[in-house]
Formats: sequence, C-alpha cells, structure tokens
Amino acid sequence: MKILVLIEQRDGKIKNSAYEALSLAHKLTGNPSDVAGAVIGSGVNTSELAGWGAESILYAENSSFERYNIGNYSNALEAAIKSFEPDLILAAASPMGKDILPRLAARCDAGIITDVVDINVSGNNTSATKPMYAGKCLAEVHLQGEGLKFVSIRPNVFGSDKPDAGSATVSRIEVPDSTLDMKTTEVRKGTSEKADLTEAVRIVAGGRSVGSADNFKILDECANVMNATVGASRAAVDSGYAPHSMQVGQTGKTVNPNLYLACGISGSIQHMAGMRTSKVIVAINTDPEAPIFSVADYGIVADLFEAVPLLTKKLQSML
Ligand code: FAD
Repeated sequence: MKILVLIEQRDGKIKNSAYEALSLAHKLTGNPSDVAGAVIGSGVNTSELAGWGAESILYAENSSFERYNIGNYSNALEAAIKSFEPDLILAAASPMGKDILPRLAARCDAGIITDVVDINVSGNNTSATKPMYAGKCLAEVHLQGEGLKFVSIRPNVFGSDKPDAGSATVSRIEVPDSTLDMKTTEVRKGTSEKADLTEAVRIVAGGRSVGSADNFKILDECANVMNATVGASRAAVDSGYAPHSMQVGQTGKTVNPNLYLACGISGSIQHMAGMRTSKVIVAINTDPEAPIFSVADYGIVADLFEAVPLLTKKLQSML
C-alpha cells in the first residue's frame, strides 16, 4: 500500500494536521518508501519534514501557489498522484482538504471517505469510521477493491507521534496551468496569533449570553492563561460578538481539542455537531437543564461572569 499525504502549509509553515496525517501514514504502512508527501506552495521549509515517515516529498513550488486556489492546487495534487502512483491519498479534513479531495476523487473516478476518526487498511480494502448526523452516530464505511482511494482525517484525533523515519528527499514536480477562470486576489487573515480552532489543543468558547464583543475579553483572558483559542456559538457570531471564523458547529468549524470550555452555550444540536468529540468538555451555564451538560465531563452551574474570572485567577496562580 502506497500512501500520498497532502501536506498543508500556511505562509510556508507546515500545519500540525500534516504531521498528524504523515504519522498515520507511517502507522498504516510501516515503511517510509511507501509514503510520500505532496507539498504545494512557495518558500516552504520542507526540511522540517525529515523523520516524519516519508522517504520522498513531491514539491510543487511556484509563486502562483502562494495563495490557495482550488484550480492550481488540485492540478498540483493530481501531478503528485501521477508521479507517485499511490493507492491512498490522506489529507486533513480541514477546509482545504474538504475542498480539494472530493474534487480530485471525482476527477480520478475514485472512492472517498471524509472526516474519519478511525481507519484500517487490509489488502485492497480500506475501512474507516466517521461521525454522522451531527456526531450522533458513527458509520463504518468500506472502500473495497483495487484503485485509488481518498480519505480525509479529522484533525487532532490520531495524534502526531514522530516516527523518526524517512529522509523526506525533495523532488520538484511540474504542474500544468489551471484552466479555471478563477484567481485568488486577496486573503484576509484573522488577527489572532493563536492556533486555528481546528488545530487548537484547548478552546474557550462563548455563547449568546456573553452579551457583547467587549465581554469576550473575559474569555480571551482565560484563554491566554492556558494558551487556548477562543471560539463562539453561532448565536454569538450572529449577534456580532465574534467573527464567523470563530464559529464552532455544523455551519462553523469542527473542533477536537483536548479541552473545550463552553461558557454560556446552551448546547444545540448544531453546536454540538462541531465539538462533541472534544476529549474533555467543561460547561459553565446558569441553567442546570442546559443540553450542553449532557455531553460535558464537568459541569459548573454558575454565572459565567463570576465563574470565568475566578477560573482565570485560579489558573494564573497554578500555571
Ligand atoms: P442560546 O441557545 O441562547 O443559549 C444561551 C445559554 O446561555 C443558555 O443555555 C443560558 O442558560 C445560558 N446563560 C445565560 N446567561 C448566562 C450566564 N450569565 N452565565 C452562564 N450561562 C448563561 N449554532 C452553533 O453554535 N454553531 C453552528 O454551526 C450552528 N449552525 C446552525 C445551522 C443551522 C441550519 C441552524 C438552523 C442553526 C445553527 N446553529 C448553530 C444555531 C443553533 O441552533 C443555536 O441557536 C445556537 O447554537 C445557540 O447558541 P447559544 O448556545 O450561544 O445561545
């Protein structure tokens, strides 16, 4: 089984989710020569990939790849597929992975399983487990028979243990120009220096009851102490307290941190769709009947304006 991993990068820096996918590819194959990474970008520090389980790195480097563009990027991944001839493509189920993989699977007439939380490979068969119906059940999906297969993995599920194998020898690949009449002219970045929600190890999230954008500072302070990223419910986003990039849930981001601290969030089905697989969930809510407590490992029935500053103070003295 040969696996090609799509290595995601931002501004030349390789994303944690790429290391996670490489680590998983190594676990599945046990052999660095069966693993290659596809890097698409410009000025990417590929030397960081040495020891992450891939013998070769196929690098599509071009200034036109500086800004993500589905036309260019899917052509580059297709060129890497043609060069390495893998059996399986692995990528993170990130916004980029969700954009590129289905498009290429359709182009290659191949099967795809998205957003998986477990995967097994045996001979020509790939089976994977993925959450469905807003995380209410887990489906086991099988792709059988020969031929190329695509799988995207949910970030922060598989872990990124460095196998200390694979020289990550870089070879350049040529990519035909995109025929899509579409260009990325501008990328508007968020101002936060913190990890993106989808890769965050700790998240402090606020809901409608936070009451204003200014009040989100209470959550920022708590997040700063434990190096967490701040998230929000859709009600908070729709009320203008937080930008959409901070929204967690069905129409926001799917997150999977070690710790999810939900402050004044009721726990609607749509919100829980994005965070219920978090490893430890702590909820602060004034209503003891709030649905969020049904998925919480620790529940604090309290006013967030009292509980969060107290928690921040306590954490400051401990950390
Ligand atoms: P509310 O439901 O109003 O809950 C506020 C909570 O705060 C209550 O439980 C209350 O007891 C508690 N509270 C009040 N005061 C305090 C206080 N001082 N201290 C502590 N607790 C307090 N929602 C998402 O979040 N993400 C999505 O991606 C998303 N997608 C959607 C897609 C669709 C198609 C639809 C129809 C809806 C979607 N929603 C989504 C909206 C969702 O249905 C809920 O409306 C939303 O999640 C509610 O947000 P909330 O919990 O902040 O607000």
